[in-house]
Parts: sequence; structure tokens; C-alpha cells
Amino acid sequence: MTIDIDALAWDKQGGLLPAIVQDADTLRVLMLGYMDREALAATLRSGHVTFFSRSKGRLWTKGESSGHVLELVSIDADCDADALLVRAHPRGPTCHLQRASCFPSAPGDGLAELDALIAQRERERPEGSYTTKLFEAGVRRIAQKVGEEGVETALAAVAQDDAALLGEAADLLYHLTVLLRARGLSLEDARRVLQLRRS
Ligand code: AMP
Ligand code: ZN
Ligand code: ZN
Ligand code: ZN
Repeated sequence: MTIDIDALAWDKQGGLLPAIVQDADTLRVLMLGYMDREALAATLRSGHVTFFSRSKGRLWTKGESSGHVLELVSIDADCDADALLVRAHPRGPTCHLQRASCFPSAPGDGLAELDALIAQRERERPEGSYTTKLFEAGVRRIAQKVGEEGVETALAAVAQDDAALLGEAADLLYHLTVLLRARGLSLEDARRVLQLRRS
């Protein structure tokens, strides 16, 4: 995280910068708030995302009364330093209407959501879940499933059956994510390797 408070365009918009908050795991947009210098400094100091509330007329740490704080992961400025992108781990629903996001249909990153969901299943091992069963069967079994789904994906493509191809590709992505997680890795780690290859 490289944010230089003094390099931000504070004077452009009366000392307030819009700050878009995303879930750091799923990249879903959670809310929009405004930060002044003090709010940004308080966020960096405390690790809890803090805004300047225009309605309250004071600093407002999200979750200060509900406990649903946003634990800071990163902050970046946009290209001309007049808007902020905050990534955070929400502790509870971000919206005061008890919804995860203030935007009812805010799109997240579907694969990042899958990555996060499988990591959660691995931690919590809910009973009766197919993912739990896979983790308990172990890496060899999961690896075998990835092999099978890979072959099924290839066969569906060759057979020019697009509906089957999409279904098998989805199976493959799911099992691949479980396999990576079973080895302590994530789809995000693989994505980073791809990114390095591009640059
Ligand atoms: P909280 O910061 O979660 O303790 O909530 C305190 C008060 O801030 C709530 O009663 C709402 O008025 C307001 N509030 C909470 N969350 C949001 C949000 N995501 N967007 C706008 N206002 C909010
Ligand atoms: Zn801008
Ligand atoms: Zn809301
Ligand atoms: Zn399949």
C-alpha cells in the first residue's frame, strides 16, 4: 500500500475525496464514503476504515456503534489522486440495512468469490458439504477429480457441445480451486503468476 497523503488532490473538492470500499476477498463494492485528511490518517492509524460523515459533521468510523467495522487491507488513489479505492475485510454487514453491500446488486469478481467461499469451507468444514467431503478425502482424491474434469472439459469441446463444455469448465474451475486450497494455495495465487507473465 503506497498512499502519500500530501500528494492527494484535497483542494479540488473542498477537502473531501470519495472512497470506494471493496471486500478484499471478493472485490464486491461494499459502500461509498468520503474521507478528509483526518479520516484518512485515522484509517491508516487505526486499521479501521474511517470517513468524514457529511450528515454527522464529524469523523465516523464505520462500525463504531454496530461493531461492523471494515478492517483495512489497502488504500490506493486513482490516476489523478482525487478518489480512493479502499480494500477491507468487513466484520459483519456493511450496510446499516443489514446487507453485505449498500449496493443491492453490486457485482463482485465471481472467481474471487469462489476462492473466498472455498477458503471459508476449508476453515469451517460444514457438515454435509461436498467441499468438506473433498477436503477430508485429501489431495490425491481432489487431484484425481481435477484430472477427470479436465478430460471431460476437453471431450465436450471436441464434441462441440457448448452447454456441456460450460458445465465441465465450471466443474473444473471449482475442483481446481479446491485442489489449490488443499495445498494451502488459492486461485488468486495462480492469477498472480499469470499477471507476472504478462508484464
Ligand atoms: P455503524 O457505523 O455501523 O456503527 O452505524 C452507525 C450509523 O451510521 C448508522 O445508524 C447509520 O446511520 C450510519 N451507517 C452505517 N453504515 C452505513 C453505510 N454503509 N452507509 C451509510 N450510512 C451508514
Ligand atoms: Zn480521478
Ligand atoms: Zn447502506
Ligand atoms: Zn464434470
